[in-house]
This record gives sequence, C-alpha cells and structure tokens, in this order.
Amino acid sequence: MMELCEQYKKLGISEEVWLFGEETLNSLKARFARIDETAEYNQLKVIHAMQTAHVSEACLLGTTGYGYNDLGRDTLEKVYAGVFRTEDALVRPQITCGTHALALALMSNLRPGDELLSPVGKPYDTLEEVIGIRPSRGSLSEYGVTYRQVDLCPDGRFDYDGIRSAVNEKTKLVAIQRSKGYQTRPTLSVARIGELISFVKQLKPDVIVMVDNCYGEFVETMEPSEAGADMVVGSLIKNPGGGLAPIGGYIAGKKECVENAACRLTSPGLAKEVGASLGVLPAFYQGLFLAPTVTASALKGAIFAANIYERLGFAVVPDGSESRHDIIQAVTFGSPEGVIAFCEGIQAAAPVDSFVTPEPWDMPGYDSKVIMAAGAFVSGSSIELSADGPIAPPYAVYFQGGLTFPHAKLGILKSLQNLADRGICHIC
Ligand SMILES: *Cc1c(COP(=O)(O)O)cnc(C)c1O
Repeated sequence: MMELCEQYKKLGISEEVWLFGEETLNSLKARFARIDETAEYNQLKVIHAMQTAHVSEACLLGTTGYGYNDLGRDTLEKVYAGVFRTEDALVRPQITCGTHALALALMSNLRPGDELLSPVGKPYDTLEEVIGIRPSRGSLSEYGVTYRQVDLCPDGRFDYDGIRSAVNEKTKLVAIQRSKGYQTRPTLSVARIGELISFVKQLKPDVIVMVDNCYGEFVETMEPSEAGADMVVGSLIKNPGGGLAPIGGYIAGKKECVENAACRLTSPGLAKEVGASLGVLPAFYQGLFLAPTVTASALKGAIFAANIYERLGFAVVPDGSESRHDIIQAVTFGSPEGVIAFCEGIQAAAPVDSFVTPEPWDMPGYDSKVIMAAGAFVSGSSIELSADGPIAPPYAVYFQGGLTFPHAKLGILKSLQNLADRGICHIC
C-alpha cells in the first residue's frame, strides 16, 4: 500500500489526503459490491443482445455514400433494441448529440395541433428552445405544437391531480426526464417512472411516453422501456457510448415511433435505409460493450465524492447514502473559491490537458460565469471525468463521469488536496 501512496504523491496527493480517501473508501465496500453486481448483470445483458443479433466481424466495417445495406449499422440497431427490450432502435452518428436525439423523437412523433406534456417539471435547459418555452427558430411551438407542464410537488412526489387535469384530447406525447440534470429535484428511479407511466396510460391509453434517458443508462438493471415507455432517448457521448463513441445518439422504442424518427432524420421514404456509418461502428459496438462497467466506475466516483465532501460538512446531492439513479453529483461549496479549487483539481487529474487551468467564463444560456473542467479524449464527453460550476450562489459544482474508478478517485483527491491546501476545508 505504501507503494500506492508514493504513486499518489507523484501526482501531488499528500499522505493525509490519501488516508482520508482510504478511510472513506473502506466504508463503501458493500455499496461498491452492489454496483459491481448491477454492472455484471448489465454486461451479460449487452453480450446476450450482441449474440442474439449475430454480431460478426463484418459488422465492424462501415459504409460510405448512401449507406445502403449497412450490415453493421442495422445489426447495431438490433443490439440496442435487444438491450432496451424494444421493438426497434435508431442509433446513428448523424444524430449529433442528446438534444438532437430528443428533438428528433419529439418533432417526428408530434404533428400540428398536438400537445406535449411534461409531468415532471421543467425539462433540461436545451429542450426549452426545442419546445419553444424560450422562443426559438424552428421550435415545436412554431409548428403549432403546444406544451403543458406539471411541476413535481414540493416534496418531490408526482402531482397526480395536476397531471389528471392537464391531460386532454390534444395530449399526444408525454416526456419524462429520468435524470435531475442540473436541477435540485431527485432523479427518478425506473420504478417511479413505471408508476407514472401506468397512471398516464390509464388516463389516456394511446398517448406516447418518451423518456429522456440521458445519464441513466445501466445505472439500474432495468431501463424505462421495460417499465412501459414507448421511447427511450439518449446520447452516445454519455453512458451507452462507454467513452469510446466519438459522436451519436439513440432512440429505442416502438416500431412506429422509431420509424417516425428515421423519416425525419433522413427523409420520408428513405427512413432507416440510408445513413452511412463511415468508420464509427467499432467504437459504437465496443463502447456499448464497455458501457456497463464504465457507468459503474462513474457511479462509484460520484458516491466517493459525496461521502468525502459530506464528511467535511458540505451539502451534497444525492447524499452519501441514498440510492442512485444517474451519475451526476452536486457538491455545494458556498464560495467561488471552493468551486474553483474543485474544478482545478478535476482538470489537473485529466489524462489530456492536465496542465491547463480552467477559468470562470461567460457562457451562452447562463446568467453568471461558469467554470468547466474537462480533459477528455472525446470533446465534451460527460461520461469522462468532468465538472462544471456556475460562479453564483449557492456555489455548487456538478460533477460526473470517470471511465475508470481510479481516475475518478484521483480527480476527487486532487480536488480535495486543492481545497485543503487553500484552507477552504480542514481534513480531520
Ligand atoms: C445531457 C442531457 C441532455 C442533452 O444532451 P446534449 O448531448 O448535451 O445535447 C438532455 N437531457 C438530459 C437529462 C441530459 O443530461
């Protein structure tokens, strides 16, 4: 063990900080063992889906041009349908990010005169412009699709009465965001999402339920598509890309919903038949193969951070012991110096760009400056270790990712070392 401590010293971690980390880890053994069990289950699920879909070496080759008869692309979509237990899936590098995948799912399944309902409060920031909550060129609102929202009750429960009165003859699609994203509400478990879906389907059986699955994939053994969702949607530079996918998004769900999305992504009449996979398929397949254990690493990192900072008296959401349904961790430092010290620590632990110092900066869409730390192999990938914090009260950082647990651990210890060296916290 002293050999390990010496290696940490080379990376700027003092013996005191390292020991504080080891003590914290000792208390997490049982918890980590359960996460490993979930990863094991999900690993088997992915392998089973790959075997059932007959993934072969030929699937790893790509196509160019129109991409007709792209065996690897079509087989990968069968694999995703197998993993999410859906009728079909659309998994494409032409889907540029999570927002694009969600916009595609919404815009292709809604028609003028339809209404979209969010029964779980305000959706993720970038969807405000997709829906037209903030007026924007090309929004659903411009196409005559209206929007209704029912907020969660103050204690986090679903407002069933509110939902009952919001559903009407125009309600066509219900969007449920699994992860809290950067809000303070709790993330929804698949079981809770299932309860909400049954309620909504009782009110209106033919409504389409879409779940924004970003950051939630492989955190549990079940996915929302197994709890009644008609579509699950996410980004490949988060959990299901396993850190290897360089771009992409997915929509898995009912055949008709996926077909609608394909007609919108490419063209009516062409649908899933075109869309060359170029050279990305090996990364998509191998990334999905690694995704269960990568997600487990990120989850362990989040739990480790929660326990470290909770012990030091900072507010953490989720707290050190509660059950997890996504990979995001918030820590409130209460001062700009705390946020900056944390983010600098995460940056300094990165394999790429460890020598740069992140600085608070004005960002489009934010009222305050934001500091972001990331040293990723895939630009903007948030399954890789990354953190960001608005320089505004309550001075919280949002932290996620870590392709391996040792890397996430190093990042957290580096952040702690910075906070301790600058007198922002005291290790006792
Ligand atoms: C990341 C995320 C999105 C948007 O994904 P981008 O790839 O950043 O466009 C949407 N919803 C949730 C909950 C997310 O976490």
